[in-house]
Amino acid sequence: MEISIIGGGITGLTTALALSKLGIPAKVYEQAESLNEIGAGIWLQPNAMKVLQWLGLEKEIKQAGCTLNKMEITYPDLTPIKKINKAVVSDSDGNQTIAIHRAKLQSILFDKLKETSHIELGKSYINHELVNKKIEIQFKDESISSDIVLGADGIHSKVRATMGLPSQYRNTNQICCRGIATIELPEHLQAEGKEVWGHKKRFGFSQLSDEKVYYFTVLNKNNCPSNLDQNSLIDQFKEFDPIVSQIIASSETFHETELYDLKRLPNWYNTHSCLIGDAAHATTPNMGQGACQGIEDAYYISNLLKSSEKPADAFKQFELKRRKKVEYVVNNSWNFGKMAHNPFGQLIMKTMMKITPEKVISKQMNKLYEVDGL
Ligand SMILES: Cc1cc2nc3c(=O)[nH]c(=O)nc-3n(C[C@H](O)[C@H](O)[C@H](O)COP(=O)(O)OP(=O)(O)OC[C@H]3O[C@@H](n4cnc5c(N)ncnc54)[C@H](O)[C@@H]3O)c2cc1C
Repeated sequence: MEISIIGGGITGLTTALALSKLGIPAKVYEQAESLNEIGAGIWLQPNAMKVLQWLGLEKEIKQAGCTLNKMEITYPDLTPIKKINKAVVSDSDGNQTIAIHRAKLQSILFDKLKETSHIELGKSYINHELVNKKIEIQFKDESISSDIVLGADGIHSKVRATMGLPSQYRNTNQICCRGIATIELPEHLQAEGKEVWGHKKRFGFSQLSDEKVYYFTVLNKNNCPSNLDQNSLIDQFKEFDPIVSQIIASSETFHETELYDLKRLPNWYNTHSCLIGDAAHATTPNMGQGACQGIEDAYYISNLLKSSEKPADAFKQFELKRRKKVEYVVNNSWNFGKMAHNPFGQLIMKTMMKITPEKVISKQMNKLYEVDGL
């Protein structure tokens, strides 16, 4: 069975590795000429780490990143809204959240993939069609034949368009800036993730490795200057703890992104094609679960392709298995982002956080971090 994966992002690379682990060859086709992730960090939560451990990558990822012992939402002066221990960053089996530079994660996945499977760069997918029980995939420069297409080509998926599925987006009207700062955090802030809440704005950060700190800001679009630069970004957070402006000032550059997600699709597959990762269920980043869900997809789709007689059976089971959880993530993340930027919504969230016992939070997080069989 020939499997073609369109897109060499986190989902596509992890899926190829998962298939390879199960003895199923697959080939990844990526449009970029070289794999260059943006200069930002990513938080890999225990559900993703369990899959990466299954793939034999846990040690390398831990070495390249920073294990977070705590994750807190705080007031602008860094006082936690609720003091919590490990409940948010680890599961009951002790699997923890790792903060890592995106480029490091990508190169770990890419290097491992090169040992066992194929990846072709500079392959820009145009469309595909079923011809005599085989899939003809058209790239910009050539066409190839395959048995299955897995669309891992992100939120603006062309595979999704070829499958006749809608591409409607929900815009949050929020702007996110992300960057990497070269700065040593005070000891009490090392190995911790923080999300600092102000009035209609948020600032998050965590250490990635020695002297490298990942940060992000979220601002309402209508409160945000049109040409954000380092100084105007610092100005936005001037009432926050001074470490916030020190972090922004210590980064050479940042990336600005509008935050939006993908509206619920009616379905994710047809007889020979299936969407995975952001192509199927892109979420806003408020729960830090977008890539984690793509990594979970990789685990489930590969195991189902291994155990099913026909690809369409695997796709059907895959959607049945994954729908509920990804919709929980997409909807909670959307609501979280909306409420955190609305003064009344923020007040409700703070009250809920304070009155919810850590045991309950821990139970909810354990449910989120569950992966069957791992
Ligand atoms: C601000 C922000 C912060 C985030 N933080 C976190 C976090 O802390 N934790 C977390 O888990 N998630 C986080 N996410 C979400 C995460 O980044 C995404 O969910 C994840 O990157 C999606 O991976 P993917 O491989 O499915 O899609 P993508 O990363 O979009 O990859 C798609 C790939 O397909 C390729 N491609 C596209 N079109 C074609 C084509 N026509 N032909 C060939 N190739 C093509 C692209 O070049 C790309 O390489 C965050 C997102 C944002 C915006």
